[in-house]
Amino acid sequence: MSEVVKIFAPGSVSNVGCGFDILGFAIDGVGDEMILKKNDKNAIIIDPVKDYENLPTDPKKNVAGVAIQALLDDLNSDQGFDVEIIKNIKPGSGIGSSAASAAGAVVAVNELLGKPYTKMQLVDFAMKGEELASGDVHADNVAPATLGGFCLIRGYNPLDIVHINPPKDLWCTVIHPQIEIKTKESRELLSPEVPLKKAIRQWGNVAGLMSGLYTSDYGLIGRSLEDHIVEPQRKVLIPEFDKLKESVMNAGALGCSISGSGPSVFSLAKGRESADAIAAAMDTVFKNTNLDYKIYVSKISEGGVRVI
Ligand code: ADP
Repeated sequence: MSEVVKIFAPGSVSNVGCGFDILGFAIDGVGDEMILKKNDKNAIIIDPVKDYENLPTDPKKNVAGVAIQALLDDLNSDQGFDVEIIKNIKPGSGIGSSAASAAGAVVAVNELLGKPYTKMQLVDFAMKGEELASGDVHADNVAPATLGGFCLIRGYNPLDIVHINPPKDLWCTVIHPQIEIKTKESRELLSPEVPLKKAIRQWGNVAGLMSGLYTSDYGLIGRSLEDHIVEPQRKVLIPEFDKLKESVMNAGALGCSISGSGPSVFSLAKGRESADAIAAAMDTVFKNTNLDYKIYVSKISEGGVRVI
């Protein structure tokens, strides 16, 4: 059993257009790195958190610490760990910054303890960490970050996750305008009521998207990515959203929507060439603004958190 482990924890796109709060996928193009070591102090020591020094190092306030503690409580263990986090995903990005830390932490601890849990079981502990960040239990970022591919969260009582391997040639392009939107605030914008007509279109799309993913039907994936409920309410938070979406669709995207609660925007495409053309279209829209931004072109992550 090794005493130290280094892992890569991928970013993730939740909601995926039509699947608000129930769908997410992981991306290989951006993620955190974490180094975990056993210690003999019976304590979780988080230090340093590189690049975002204002993130809490108190293990009760950092999602990594909370997720590790949930796992240790289940095992009835008081093993201590030194945790170093190299954050490449800015918090409040909409690409699962907190989820990457929570998922990465529990996968790494599981490795150091000789793998008492399956990756599917680890999602439960990672969710406890994620709850700290968003104030709500949700798995649509932590499940794909942990498991890779697409994840459908069918239900929470009990937790029921459907894992779907990504179609071979499916690529993602994400633009991350460097402003912060807190998930909690972005949720407060949403009306609690959904008109029946919109709901019908939306669940048609969710079923279509699932079917398209299973059968690698890229046309069906594209037609199904439309979000009639949440995107129209949230897009006001995202600079240049309409212009961005129009350019991305003209560049050949299968679909385009807000990643998580924003400000990141994702699009899916068939093939790398198309994903690169979309990145160029995003760049053209944003280079004339005063905003800093990052663009990632990535395949869908197949395995989620991995030891490096
Ligand atoms: P994101 O979707 O990028 O994860 P959230 O708004 O959901 O953004 O979560 C970010 C919040 O979680 C911030 O308030 C941040 O302080 C808190 N947080 C605690 N620990 C971490 C961590 N290890 N990584 C990122 N955010 C963390």
